[in-house]
Amino acid sequence: MKPETIALHGGSHRADPSTGSVAVPIHQTTSFQFQDTGHAARLFALQELGNIYTRIMNPTCDALETRLAALEGGVAGLAVGSGQAATTFCVLNLCEAGDNIVSSTDLYGGTWNLFANTLKQFGIEVRFVDPADPENFAKASDDRTRCWYAETLPNPKLQVFPIAEVATLGRNLGIPLIMDNTAAPIICKPFQHGAAVVMHSTTKWIGGHGTSIGGMVIDGGNFDWAQHGDRFPTLNRPDPSYHGAVWTEAAKPLGPVAYILRMRTCLLRDIGAPMSPFNAFMFLQGLETLPLRMERHCSNALRVAAFLSGHDQVTSVIHPSVATGEAKRRADAHLAGGYGSLLGFELKGGKEAGQRFIEKLKLFYHVANIGDARSLAIHPATTTHSQLNEEEQAASGVTPGYVRLSIGIEHIDDILADLEQALA
Ligand SMILES: *Cc1c(COP(=O)(O)O)cnc(C)c1O
Repeated sequence: MKPETIALHGGSHRADPSTGSVAVPIHQTTSFQFQDTGHAARLFALQELGNIYTRIMNPTCDALETRLAALEGGVAGLAVGSGQAATTFCVLNLCEAGDNIVSSTDLYGGTWNLFANTLKQFGIEVRFVDPADPENFAKASDDRTRCWYAETLPNPKLQVFPIAEVATLGRNLGIPLIMDNTAAPIICKPFQHGAAVVMHSTTKWIGGHGTSIGGMVIDGGNFDWAQHGDRFPTLNRPDPSYHGAVWTEAAKPLGPVAYILRMRTCLLRDIGAPMSPFNAFMFLQGLETLPLRMERHCSNALRVAAFLSGHDQVTSVIHPSVATGEAKRRADAHLAGGYGSLLGFELKGGKEAGQRFIEKLKLFYHVANIGDARSLAIHPATTTHSQLNEEEQAASGVTPGYVRLSIGIEHIDDILADLEQALA
């Protein structure tokens, strides 16, 4: 089925078997009653799959997990409490102290901090490389490299990551590529370009209404973790926390789901951070209209990019639609149906002009969020990137007059009018 249909019908939920409810019920419960002692024993032994306790699985979360996995073309999903938790789990599922990963430098600020500082506490090293040259990933890797990590459409530079090129290099070395696809749901399908795992901050476009924090990890089921067994001890070595289970073996009856199965049965069990059933319901609600909203987000952003490109107070516009050369080629090779709704531009007057522009906006909200149905704006140099010095800001693509917009689904005339009056 096509994305528009999967967003409404995909995954495990059809009608609730006990009530016939068409909408996914919010199973706001901690625990699930066992049928008898044998049933309880089989669930704990993983001989039968079923609900035990909401830290580990929940039917409302399952409806979201299976629907989003279907939408991305993966085999299974795991819902967690935030995008940050999703990224943390993606890495901890493969890495132990002494291991490393290679990551693109173009990252969400929270991910950068997690990688540069917090993972160090666990003895996990993150090697940052410039994605301009895909070979940089291979050059930075060694026997203890467990995965590569990048974002499809990272802001503020908004240069699409060369997923296909890097995934192919990785597969030749037996190293999986994990993609943060938060900013490009529907318009990019990382599994089609060779990624092994996809994560989302569902907080953004999937939720779409700025109400709930959540994250999702999706297993592509397309990476042979056993073939490269030495590189993935967490998946191929007997696990003492599960009677010596080897996850690549234990997953076999269920399909190619070793990665996500181990994440649920070990990391979610031990570290926690599940998504709440209520938030899963909110994300299901958002997901139903995501394909429609993305169309409008993208068509509005295209118009804003063209409008700003012709404005005399604007020195440059950053959006894949106006990229040139290799950046444009990468955008066109990986995006279909739109160039996303994040957009940056540089004001002639620098920092003061950037701040004044933000203050004059009436329709746009001034917030740190992105992917809301409403249009949003922020001045990164004085907010999200203010901890960096001017040199570091420049390296990350933030100039003093840079303004970041997340274009919403309002009528384009009203969006352009607000930008026009604030620029004036
Ligand atoms: C917001 C965001 C995250 C973190 O997600 P939270 O849900 O806020 O924890 C990760 N990656 C990207 C690209 C994001 O925009």
